[in-house]
Amino acid sequence: MRAIHIVKPRQVAFLDAPKPEPLPGEVIVQCKYVALCGSNMGQYTGEGVWGNIHFPNPVGWAGHENIGTVVESRCKGWEPGTLVLAQPEGYYGFAEFIRARPPAPCSAAAAKSSPETFRAYSYGMLPAASTLGKL
Ligand SMILES: [Zn+2]
Repeated sequence: MRAIHIVKPRQVAFLDAPKPEPLPGEVIVQCKYVALCGSNMGQYTGEGVWGNIHFPNPVGWAGHENIGTVVESRCKGWEPGTLVLAQPEGYYGFAEFIRARPPAPCSAAAAKSSPETFRAYSYGMLPAASTLGKL
């Protein structure tokens, strides 16, 4: 798979990396969009609160805001083909494929019925179609 590697301050590389495997309770998401968060800027520049960060960063780190489609699932209720907003495990979100852990209980229906979007997001994943439809 393709992944982004922050090699040194203000230098990134695109490279091939192993595709992750889902652990029990997780899914693999093929990312369509990967956000660059304000918190990533210091990781990119090595400045501010990230001034003492070690370079190169781990491959794929520290993206944490992804939108894509579930392509493998080890979590009942989160079937392949589901469009999701996902927070990757370990913040390895600068990658084509990510591991993500849906909210417990392991059910898309539970997330869709949550009255508190933020609470559901804190579990790491939401069905994107229903979430974006509420905006
Ligand atoms: Zn962020």
